[in-house]
Amino acid sequence: MNYPGHLFVITAPSGAGKSSLVRALREHDAQVVVSVSHTTRPPRGQEQHGREYFFVSEAEFDTLVLADAFVEWAHVHHYRYGTSRHAIAEHMAQGSDVILEIDYQGALQIKRIFSDAVTVFILPPSWDELRQRLQRRGEDTGTVIEVRLANAVAEVAQVHQFDFVIINASFERALDDLRAVVRTQRLTYTAQCRAKNPAFKALQIGECVPHTAQEISWPVSP
Ligand code: 5GP
Repeated sequence: MNYPGHLFVITAPSGAGKSSLVRALREHDAQVVVSVSHTTRPPRGQEQHGREYFFVSEAEFDTLVLADAFVEWAHVHHYRYGTSRHAIAEHMAQGSDVILEIDYQGALQIKRIFSDAVTVFILPPSWDELRQRLQRRGEDTGTVIEVRLANAVAEVAQVHQFDFVIINASFERALDDLRAVVRTQRLTYTAQCRAKNPAFKALQIGECVPHTAQEISWPVSP
């Protein structure tokens, strides 16, 4: 099955600024849709069911796994997180650009399934800065911050597997970089031929010829 929209996967260690960047991207760009994942983690602060996440019990998550409802799922920081097929399939078929804000394990699973997915890793400028951001955020205890930093070392070690890397030293610059990645994908031959078909027709270029196979081969299990 061909899908007209793009699939972007954005990964970063906790505190690198991924959610703020994605939120700002969405404010600037009505064509992007952020997929809402399922998680067994309890809601934090003002989080709402169906907005930040679908908050489900361990048993409900098990049922979804058995029903093959997830295109990918992973254990992250003691909880399970998953992207449901339903969360992305419809938007992708409609031509929206779908963003998955997921960890590196999920990102690598997605890349194996959707070879055209664009993976972006957001790095903090330094470990000191990451520690300070986690402390300033005030959401976690000192022990939890140390766990997050230790996990971040393992996460960052996977950066070479990603298509793009953005260093979030300045928020505005990082947002500009993220917008550039999205814009670049919309300028490929395949994307332009789809989006600007009347112009291609007027120029008598002929039918759009996909130059890469965009097969969706859903996994049997994540
Ligand atoms: P948090 O609990 O802080 O919102 O998220 C913890 C981590 O889980 C983050 O790295 C986030 O990107 C990741 N995550 C959120 N949703 C998913 C998902 O559907 N799949 C995977 N693999 N990771 C996810």
